[in-house]
Amino acid sequence: MTNPLDLFSANYFEAREKFRVAAARRRCELTAHLHPHAKGPNGEDLTIDVATSGPTRAAAGLLLISGTHGVEGYAGSACQIGWLNTVTNETWPPELRVVMIHALNPYGFAWNRRVTEDNVDLNRNFVSHNAPYPANDGYEQLKTAIAPKDLDPETLRQGSELFRDFIKEYGPFTMQEAVSKGQYAHPDGMYYGGTREQWSAGIVKHVVRRELAHCHRVGEIDFHTGLGPYGHGELISEEAAGTPAYERAKSWWPDICSTQSGDSVSAAVMGSIDSCLPGLLPRTDVTVGCLEFGTVSTFEVFMALRADNWLHTRGNPQGNEAASIKAQIRAAFYPDQDDWKEMVWKRGETVMAQAVQGLMARA
Ligand SMILES: [Zn+2]
Repeated sequence: MTNPLDLFSANYFEAREKFRVAAARRRCELTAHLHPHAKGPNGEDLTIDVATSGPTRAAAGLLLISGTHGVEGYAGSACQIGWLNTVTNETWPPELRVVMIHALNPYGFAWNRRVTEDNVDLNRNFVSHNAPYPANDGYEQLKTAIAPKDLDPETLRQGSELFRDFIKEYGPFTMQEAVSKGQYAHPDGMYYGGTREQWSAGIVKHVVRRELAHCHRVGEIDFHTGLGPYGHGELISEEAAGTPAYERAKSWWPDICSTQSGDSVSAAVMGSIDSCLPGLLPRTDVTVGCLEFGTVSTFEVFMALRADNWLHTRGNPQGNEAASIKAQIRAAFYPDQDDWKEMVWKRGETVMAQAVQGLMARA
């Protein structure tokens, strides 16, 4: 019997070590992709660690990704480690190929940031960088409130006024969409998708094509935190109801929500991994679920992200303000509390088991 509390780690480095030990115990093949230029807060090396197991020519593959959004990696890492620690032959059929990508954005995990070393939201980076980028008019209207020049009370008051007026005109969900769906024009802003492929994006594409392209069926779970009620794990699809991919996901996970029908805590976003996966595996039925665990209120999450964005783009990440801002963002994405950890593991375990069942039912 595993103790859920033991699955969680205090920081990226502990999480990486626990993951590698758990994967080695399961005799997984381990590959460490060393980050070519980003380092940890004390100059440490950073790696994306990939564990694979099961037949290389398997018909069915399961892909589990943690840390796409750096600081959100505490929960996903724990779910991956928990799964490695608890699976049996029954819950992990020998004919299933399993690929686990740990800390896809290791810089963000190590620094307790949601973004990459280039201030890029990795889950908005999977767009074509050779075509014009999609516009985000709402972000343009709100940009001085989203990424203010300083955190002085008067500047923040003006920002709040801007948000209030926007909500009055368009409603709160339109504001959430404007802020979070992604933008490609302001490198020092939030939810910035970047203007070139991020190193982490290249690695995940390489791993998926290398390890899973031969599969007839692939299930993917991408673990996130920061949206929804405390400890609740909402499964999110970016597919519209009625499409084969959505109906497949719904048959595995009956409570899945769709960003296309507006029943999800998340707005529809641009350039996500989930939207890119089917294109990487054109001969495969790909079934995707983003598992989003709630932490604190959306407003508190936003405040933490805004402060962190200011710290790294205009402030000094090693300066006096850093400690409190870093504690704020870590707590917003990782409530370091026993009941939250227990809820995350219970839900994560269920969702992973449902994915395995769904994959094997069609064998
Ligand atoms: Zn996320």
